[in-house]
Formats: sequence, C-alpha cells, structure tokens
Amino acid sequence: MTSIVVSVGPLSGVEPGLLSRAFEVARAGSIAARAGLVIEPAPLVVRCRECGAEGEAAPQALLCPSCGGWRVDVVSGDDLLLRQLTLTPLPESARDEGGEEAGAGNEEGGSEYV
Ligand SMILES: [Zn+2]
Repeated sequence: MTSIVVSVGPLSGVEPGLLSRAFEVARAGSIAARAGLVIEPAPLVVRCRECGAEGEAAPQALLCPSCGGWRVDVVSGDDLLLRQLTLTPLPESARDEGGEEAGAGNEEGGSEYV
C-alpha cells in the first residue's frame, strides 16, 4: 500500500478536512489511486525576540511560552510539509500488462496547429 504523510501547520492556511477531500478527488486515476493520506498536525513553534525562548504556542495567541511576550517569530507551523512517501512496488501480475509505451506515439498525432 502506498501512503503519503503530510504535516500541516496551524498557520499554513490548509484545512485538513478539505485537503483530504481534495486528495480523494486528485488521486482518482493516478498512480496514487490506492494511496492513503495521513495528515499530521504540526506544532506551532515560535521564538521569542525578548528572551530567546523557543517553544510551542497556540495559533490564536502567538505569545512566548516562557515570558509571555508578544514579540515572537514563527519558527515552524506555517507550512505544509510532505513528510513521507511510501511506495510499494506493483505485484508481478500487474507488471506483465506493461502496455504503457506501446501506444505512446498515437495520441500526439492531431496536436499540430494549422
Ligand atoms: Zn520570551
């Protein structure tokens, strides 16, 4: 089984529910058609400009976990990361069909502009 693991930061703007639905649609008919999508929430980590402390903060309250100051920089948590991609080779029976290259030239015949 193929599986895709992504981590979604709280500030990434990505809604995990929407992402998994989009994935359901996007994977149909692709090589990932049987893939499972695992969405891991990523921690929101900030670094304080006042005291230099680094730690997790709540997305709705970007405050230093140590001194409570508001002058913090987001270290991570505003991104969407592809963490892991697991590909399982196709079983022998599936490989034998191998007709992919045979018809490759045919479809481009009519693509010339006149
Ligand atoms: Zn601080």
